[in-house]
Amino acid sequence: MSTRADRLVELLAGAAADAILVTNPVNVRYLTGFTGSSAIALIGPDMRVFATDFRYVEQAAKELDASFDRVGPSQDRLEAIADALPAGDTRLGFEEAHLSVREHARLRERLPDRIELDGLHGLVENLRAIKAPEEVAAIRAAAELADEAFARIISHGLVGHRERELAIALEFEMRRLGADRPSFEPIVATGPHGALPHARPRDVEITSGELVVIDWGAQLGGYCSDCTRTLAAGSVNGHGAEIHQLVLDAQIKGVQAIAAGAAGREVDAVARHVIDSRGHGERFGHGLGHGVGLEVHEDPRLAQRSDAVLEPGNVVTVEPGVYLPGELGVRIEDLVVVTGSGREILSGLAKELTVID
Ligand code: ZN
Ligand code: ZN
Repeated sequence: MSTRADRLVELLAGAAADAILVTNPVNVRYLTGFTGSSAIALIGPDMRVFATDFRYVEQAAKELDASFDRVGPSQDRLEAIADALPAGDTRLGFEEAHLSVREHARLRERLPDRIELDGLHGLVENLRAIKAPEEVAAIRAAAELADEAFARIISHGLVGHRERELAIALEFEMRRLGADRPSFEPIVATGPHGALPHARPRDVEITSGELVVIDWGAQLGGYCSDCTRTLAAGSVNGHGAEIHQLVLDAQIKGVQAIAAGAAGREVDAVARHVIDSRGHGERFGHGLGHGVGLEVHEDPRLAQRSDAVLEPGNVVTVEPGVYLPGELGVRIEDLVVVTGSGREILSGLAKELTVID
């Protein structure tokens, strides 16, 4: 069985690199099993080197994949890594999105001239986009935990509660149920505030007749979930129910378009067309969805400019929204895994407009 590092080495050939220095902590975790926040890994055909600092030596001893050699701890991890490089001319790739200009300069200083540094983009992220069965299971468990926390919080009602209070309660409930942490700070946005896709919960009471957008997720065993439901507090005023139905229609169409071989931009277009055709295209200003895994936003993207083509093992959100400034917002988001025969929804909560007092 090939390890994740073995698969990364296969990609290195295509990137014309002999080895890669991995500095993104999430990628280090994915490749080595080490969950601490400070470590780097050097990976090549015959090279599995890991370096952390003294704070993490014990943790690394417990967690590190056995195929890796630990070097250090050293005051200077880059130096420890440099010592591990093979003799001869070497093209060493680095993660250009995860090495600062200063670190790059320090690295260059410490390496002999025979080592050429090449910026690489998205190699480990491409591997991470396709989840192994145990990763899908971890995401499923995170989604179930988040669903359970939501159900518990909502059972206490909406009207008269404050956005901030609900967001904190949701966070607390997820942690109480065993989550590492929330995947991100929950969004609870009521009435006109729901028209801000990234609204911050306010110290404002939810009143009857408003729509309430709740976007939340749990991180469990490192893996994230992400879900949004838009609920009606009390009854619904204005054309909230109509907009909710429109977003739901788009969401369901979007989910149905998820399949291995489908392009990210096609799936986006299917959902966007539903909203466009009823005159609200301008009010859906973000992409349809994103990959979810060790990070809550990762590849592949479902968006108008996405170059992604879906593959079995991708886990993506489908989250169309319509945002009417000054009036209301509706977003409905499910977490979906691409399978060999289609798709499976990991979010278990009802999507129809639910009235909660
Ligand atoms: Zn979300
Ligand atoms: Zn999302």
